[in-house]
Amino acid sequence: MTKATTPIVDFENTEYAFAMKSDEALKKSAWLFGMMSNANLVNLGAKATLLALKMRLPITWAIKQTIFEQFCGGTTLLECVPNIDKMAKYGVTTMLDYGTEAKQTETDFNKTMRSINTAIRFAKDNDTVQVVVMKLTGLMPFDLLAKLNNGEKLNARESKIFQAGKKRVDSICYVACENEVQVYIDAEESWVQNPIDEIAMEMILRYNKKQAIVFNTYQMYRHDRLAYLKKTARIAHKNNAILGAKIVRGAYMDKERARATRLNYTSPIQISKAKTDKDYNESLTYCLSNYKRISFCAATHNAESSLLLATMMEKRGLERNHPHITFCQLYGMSDNLTFNLSKAGFTASKYLVYGPVRDVVPYLLRRAQENTSVTGDIGRELKLIKKEVKRRKK
Ligand SMILES: Cc1cc2nc3c(=O)[nH]c(=O)nc-3n(C[C@H](O)[C@H](O)[C@H](O)COP(=O)(O)OP(=O)(O)OC[C@H]3O[C@@H](n4cnc5c(N)ncnc54)[C@H](O)[C@@H]3O)c2cc1C
Repeated sequence: MTKATTPIVDFENTEYAFAMKSDEALKKSAWLFGMMSNANLVNLGAKATLLALKMRLPITWAIKQTIFEQFCGGTTLLECVPNIDKMAKYGVTTMLDYGTEAKQTETDFNKTMRSINTAIRFAKDNDTVQVVVMKLTGLMPFDLLAKLNNGEKLNARESKIFQAGKKRVDSICYVACENEVQVYIDAEESWVQNPIDEIAMEMILRYNKKQAIVFNTYQMYRHDRLAYLKKTARIAHKNNAILGAKIVRGAYMDKERARATRLNYTSPIQISKAKTDKDYNESLTYCLSNYKRISFCAATHNAESSLLLATMMEKRGLERNHPHITFCQLYGMSDNLTFNLSKAGFTASKYLVYGPVRDVVPYLLRRAQENTSVTGDIGRELKLIKKEVKRRKK
């Protein structure tokens, strides 16, 4: 007779996954994911939303009651507190992401920097918030990053603006280091990513001497990123720094492919999902093999990758809450992974986006598109929510 073994973590436990949600909240989520599964509706809705915002039509209220409530923590840090506290009750920690994107003015960039620094101070005083997030395009102009990425020289005025942006990033990393809070730098489109990587690496070498404070993001849907991860790990090691690495698959695939076709260059994206998955899992294996020198975060909604990492940790006999290994999902998605990983003793976190409704719309539209079914199949979120609604009825 074969001996029954307890699974390391049970991702099918919807009771625990959605314990934080009332019956009413769960039904609302089911309705929302049902709507989002319709590709035509999402595409039409995205266009209508952008147009309505451009025309300054009063639709922010409707957005806030629906998709914003599902995927965001609040419009301000203060508004996020009840959500942070609710998750903390289940051992789930929070990564604060002030979600403004594509800003243009120095005033906006400074405002974003101040908000992130406030979040760092908030995190310092709150045990369940260990990480804050930044997007470099929220702190300096996208166009300048694109120019640098393209190998173009900046003129004197542009150079000054770029240096001011870099100073903002440095100031955030400095405040993070002083307060011993980690700061994750998001990965963006490939046509701005080289200068983002350069700045991230500079910050890692400066601030990660004693512990990992600054983390860069590696998008495994790019065919060159596994090699880049290994290269930066070697550079960090040579410079006596700990590499901070957030591993993702990548959020801009359609945009990347469309641009490559339009401008007639080879797409940086892997030729298949299987290749992305292979590099994703290999990157986790690599980070785990070097866990003393790499502090890393498996930022994914993919159950196989999450289980793979959990299993590999177990095989190595590592503590489940090892300070160098974190699992993370976006708020409003894959609660079955986050909450059950936490239940099993792993460090599980939620990326909690917050900010004014208008500013987080690009983020919300990416979430809607991600949850759209092209094939007509029921999405994984909706499937889980329906399972839990049914279980509660019994
Ligand atoms: C905490 C957190 C932080 C994140 N931060 C970032 C960030 O900084 N930058 C960023 O770009 N994204 C970020 N993402 C989003 C992430 O990159 C993915 O878009 C998203 O999580 C879906 O991928 P998955 O690993 O969850 O798993 P899955 O759902 O298994 O994979 C879907 C992903 O696989 C890839 N893929 C799908 N089809 C193909 C194909 N035909 N060929 C090649 N690849 C394919 C795409 O990347 C797609 O998004 C983050 C996600 C999380 C959870």
